[in-house]
Amino acid sequence: MDNSLRAKLEEISHGEVLFDCPLAPYTSFAIGGPADALLVIKRKEDLAHLLNFFHNESLRWRVFGKGSNLLVNDAGFRGVVLQLAGEFAQIAEASVVGENRLTVGVGAGCSLTKLNHHCCRQGLGGMVFSYGIPGTVGGALLMNAGAWGKQMADLVVDVGLITAKGYEKLAVKPGDFRYRNWSSFAAYIGRGIIVDVTLALTSAHPSQLQGEAKELLRKRKVLQPHNYPNAGSVFKNPQGDSAGRLIDECGLKGESVGGAMVSTKHGNFIINNNKATATDVLTLIARVQHGVKKRFCVDLELEIHVLGASG
Ligand SMILES: Cc1cc2nc3c(=O)[nH]c(=O)nc-3n(C[C@H](O)[C@H](O)[C@H](O)COP(=O)(O)OP(=O)(O)OC[C@H]3O[C@@H](n4cnc5c(N)ncnc54)[C@H](O)[C@@H]3O)c2cc1C
Repeated sequence: MDNSLRAKLEEISHGEVLFDCPLAPYTSFAIGGPADALLVIKRKEDLAHLLNFFHNESLRWRVFGKGSNLLVNDAGFRGVVLQLAGEFAQIAEASVVGENRLTVGVGAGCSLTKLNHHCCRQGLGGMVFSYGIPGTVGGALLMNAGAWGKQMADLVVDVGLITAKGYEKLAVKPGDFRYRNWSSFAAYIGRGIIVDVTLALTSAHPSQLQGEAKELLRKRKVLQPHNYPNAGSVFKNPQGDSAGRLIDECGLKGESVGGAMVSTKHGNFIINNNKATATDVLTLIARVQHGVKKRFCVDLELEIHVLGASG
């Protein structure tokens, strides 16, 4: 990014921009080279303005939530990374829409942890399956995050998006989602950002929700590695099977390349156990895919998103 573009970006972002910003600290994998710039946006009115600026200057951009489903390339990203905070991280008062039924508007930058604590305190049922998923509401929606047989698609009523043209509201239905993917968002990739979501919840007892949350967190700790940086499940589960089981049966648990290792606890997790690079992880991914293909004739598809230098 040349100096005149930097100066314009500094001006348009009111100085709240970090140039040549290493992205590793912004991902749960703790891996990745620098972005040309990283900007934390706090006000809705700034966002459409910024997207227009990016469009006019032909600047690449990408939104990060908590970076918990991302592998960033060692070369980083030639463009601007955006993170949503402030107005984008708020939770509105619940509205009663029927017996035992409520809706809640949530900002896309709100973490699932904050939302779950709110739901547990307020007696709002439905979200608890996501307790322990370390992402934001926006990232969870885009990924159709799920656990224990439930997923975001079960709860979403509508979604607010901002594009260079401004704010728009999309009504959504469960059929718009696929496994670990909000497929209808494809039309907005590269031009739209999820900024808020309305969720359909139920009323529940706070103490019951707190008990469920505690139990789900306990199960996560038993089943998943939590002592080393990782990005959750690396591969999507093939239909009717589990990627972790296939990897385990290939004897690939503990397999390593450089500082990256297939977790010995859960075959579908790759951990960064010693200053792994993205190249280490990608080489290990290719080795696992090759092993599973050879033994089971199954192509393992990536669940994590890989961010290359050009997008
Ligand atoms: C320990 C661990 C456990 C996990 N367990 C689970 C689990 O049980 N179930 C599960 O489904 N996932 C799980 N994950 C993966 C991950 O936490 C989820 O996919 C999460 O929803 C990603 O949210 P995020 O905010 O971190 O998104 P990011 O990783 O930051 O982004 C993911 C993608 O969404 C895009 N994106 C993010 N925010 C927006 C936005 N506002 N608008 C448009 N695009 C956006 C990004 O550009 C990127 O392409 C786990 C991860 C870890 C590290």
